Amino acid sequence: TTTLVWFRRDLRLHDNPALSAAAAAGAVLPVYIHAPDEESPWAPGGASRWWLHHSLAALQDQLARHRLPLLIATGTTTLETLRRLIRETGADAVAWNRLYDPAIIERDQQIKRILREEGIGAESHKGALLFEPWEIRKGDGGHYRTFTPFWRSLRRQASPDRPLPVPDMDAPAARPASTALDDLRLLPAIRWDRGFEPVWSPGEAGAWQRLTTFLEARLRGYDDRRDWPSVPGTSGLSPHLHFGEISPRQIWTATRDSPGGDGDDAESFLSEVAWREFGHHLLFHFPGMPDDPIDTRFRAFPWDPDGDTALAAWQAGQTGIPIVDAGMRELWQTGWMHNRLRMVVGSLLTKNLRVPWQRGEAWFWDTLVDADLANNSMGWQWIQGCGADAAPYFRVFNPVRQGERFDPDGAYVRQWVPELETLPAKHIHAPWQAPADVLRDARVTLGVTYPHPIVDLKASRQAALDAYQTIRNAD
Ligand code: FAD
Repeated sequence: TTTLVWFRRDLRLHDNPALSAAAAAGAVLPVYIHAPDEESPWAPGGASRWWLHHSLAALQDQLARHRLPLLIATGTTTLETLRRLIRETGADAVAWNRLYDPAIIERDQQIKRILREEGIGAESHKGALLFEPWEIRKGDGGHYRTFTPFWRSLRRQASPDRPLPVPDMDAPAARPASTALDDLRLLPAIRWDRGFEPVWSPGEAGAWQRLTTFLEARLRGYDDRRDWPSVPGTSGLSPHLHFGEISPRQIWTATRDSPGGDGDDAESFLSEVAWREFGHHLLFHFPGMPDDPIDTRFRAFPWDPDGDTALAAWQAGQTGIPIVDAGMRELWQTGWMHNRLRMVVGSLLTKNLRVPWQRGEAWFWDTLVDADLANNSMGWQWIQGCGADAAPYFRVFNPVRQGERFDPDGAYVRQWVPELETLPAKHIHAPWQAPADVLRDARVTLGVTYPHPIVDLKASRQAALDAYQTIRNAD
């Protein structure tokens, strides 16, 4: 048997069920097929494309060490490309690990059916999740809408199996020509990615480095430190998980095996990994989640019709609200933003500025290196208050209070908003309330060196609550 192993977002050799199954059956030909249009309208955004390029390069290197080429292919459709490769190589099977984005599920099911009809073995495997979205079920057989019972149910399942080792792999005799990675043009023409390089190492080795550092240095105290944007308190594994450079099963096992692996910090960390599972569970059962509010009353929400200017200021990190601008600039420069800030900036956009959550979601999609359809749409519906398991609508984050609480000395704001660097901590989260002499000493001139706040936080909060009243009692 020769199997085409169709790599997608499982760009790793360890614990790769499709790869292991193929290697056990015979020769293996690793393939990556570039067909972003098939994921439309959620084809990878700019930051994800950057990551994908480097991750594919890392996978190529790793496979080369096993004397295997990574075949990169393009074509009109993935099905056509697979058929061509089957013809050219004489392969008799295709194997892949499952993904759960609605457009991908549909395509993959079709490919599986057609290939099987044509006499080709087509097998999909579970590689991206601890449990399939249909494996965690309520007592009545239905799916969950809220996290806590989902997490309890997940914890009641048998522990995930131990991760698989890298299999011994034989290459087939036939090797069709590969497209060059550079020809996929994944990297930006204008170099906005310079801030990414010092922060990230895409690829399986980079993922392991992150996990090891995290378990050694950050697991202890995680439950408290995960909320502080100015300290490296979280794992930074999200883009590695999204591209499948590490599996949740590997993370689960390594965490449990590490010192403190049965303590509260480990429990807290693994529950975050389970939020990712929950996001996939929701996306699978609510495939409209990326576009449509699960609480359909929000379809009629009175958004601000003049939201474009506010959206542009928010995207540029120029709202005049320091903690928000710090988060948005961190996002632009590094492709990542701390979870607390994602909630704070999301609340300002959708509530104080009343810009539709889908527009924030789209900006995150383009700029996050961890942009993930399940987690991103769940996060935005949560913050807007229209999701399956959402914060209540009236919970409008006060960004000044959030800044004072989670960045008390202003270190995070100073790092990303250098115009405010010399402002004392007492005023750094609300410069518009600082006395004139303090601003003068810090060389801050509002409206000149740093914007006035884009909205009155109190009045806009009230306006948001009033807007909510208009849809509250609808069916
Ligand atoms: P850690 O704290 O180290 O957590 C470990 C892993 O658990 C993460 O890598 C991630 O896979 C998962 N995880 C943690 N928190 C969450 C969460 N709240 N929801 C789902 N999974 C979680 N996460 C993404 O991976 N992609 C997105 O596109 C995304 N968009 C978001 C949008 C909004 C509006 C919000 C509020 C949250 C979003 N998140 C998203 C969730 C969360 O912010 C990130 O997963 C987290 O900040 C990643 O950092 P980390 O890897 O250091 O997390």
